[in-house]
Amino acid sequence: MLVRRIAHRFTEISSSIAMPRAVGVACLVVGLGTGFLGGALAQVPPRKPVAPNAATSVVRPQAPSGGGFLGSLFGGGGGGGGDAAGNKQRLLDAYPGAFRFEGNVLVFPSGERVVWDDGRRKSPAELLTDADVEDMFAYPYPSAREGEMAPPRDHDPGRIRSQEFFTALYGGSEGAVRRNVRTIRWVPSLGNAGLTVTTRFGIDDKLEKVSAELERLPKRFHKYLTPPGGGFLWRTIAGTRRLSVHSFGAAVDINTRFTNYWRWDKAAAGGVIPYRNQIPLEIVEVFERYCFIWGGRWYHYDTMHFEYRPELLPACRR
Ligand SMILES: [Zn+2]
Repeated sequence: MLVRRIAHRFTEISSSIAMPRAVGVACLVVGLGTGFLGGALAQVPPRKPVAPNAATSVVRPQAPSGGGFLGSLFGGGGGGGGDAAGNKQRLLDAYPGAFRFEGNVLVFPSGERVVWDDGRRKSPAELLTDADVEDMFAYPYPSAREGEMAPPRDHDPGRIRSQEFFTALYGGSEGAVRRNVRTIRWVPSLGNAGLTVTTRFGIDDKLEKVSAELERLPKRFHKYLTPPGGGFLWRTIAGTRRLSVHSFGAAVDINTRFTNYWRWDKAAAGGVIPYRNQIPLEIVEVFERYCFIWGGRWYHYDTMHFEYRPELLPACRR
């Protein structure tokens, strides 16, 4: 039975996917290219032409070119160059009507209250395990239009998540999330699989549009898309007590066969993880148009993974 086989496959994959509890607290984050200085999210010209249908590529991390990014990472004011007011507005624009701010607290219609900024400075490892909402802006997300690149060490834009924020948005239990999910047909002209995602913020409709656009890509892209790895699945990240974003029905994995995952690759000398990716950026561009970010932009890469994070994509914050 196709659906069951896919679900089983996803469980196998997901059980081996674990986010790190520690990723080298003392290591230095190298600076980024000029497009990122000061945490700016401005578009920059592609560094390298997109290589469609590329084989696994290993890209060297970029050399430091400035110190502006370091301040935004470790500063108490968090990402976006410490632009707290700007980031609050970005969040409001990304999830319209979902909450309001009362000073340093997000207040949800349910009455739930989530702290915006706990005022603590955090190492990269602490950002992963103990993020507040403001920390979710710690690393600017480079869109697919900026071309292929290897993220600098520990640069995981979108992988920093406040669990309290996500449970307030999507539900704090499997049952609560499940009340708002829908299964869409995933690239139906190419296969017979479904993907279950939340209907919150129209994510199901957006994923259907992603699916329709992906179907229209040239044939050489189709193998990456289906069978999909999976969508909604209530689970904790292996080895942690934190919920996977798949638990909220706001993430999907495309075909696991062409994925690269940092835990499956051997770290080089000094614990450096060499970047690898097989997913063409044309596919990523389609997802980004509908406000899904890509796990291939993470130092701790997970290239089959896409999740709904409009706050990190300028065109989605309207
Ligand atoms: Zn995933």
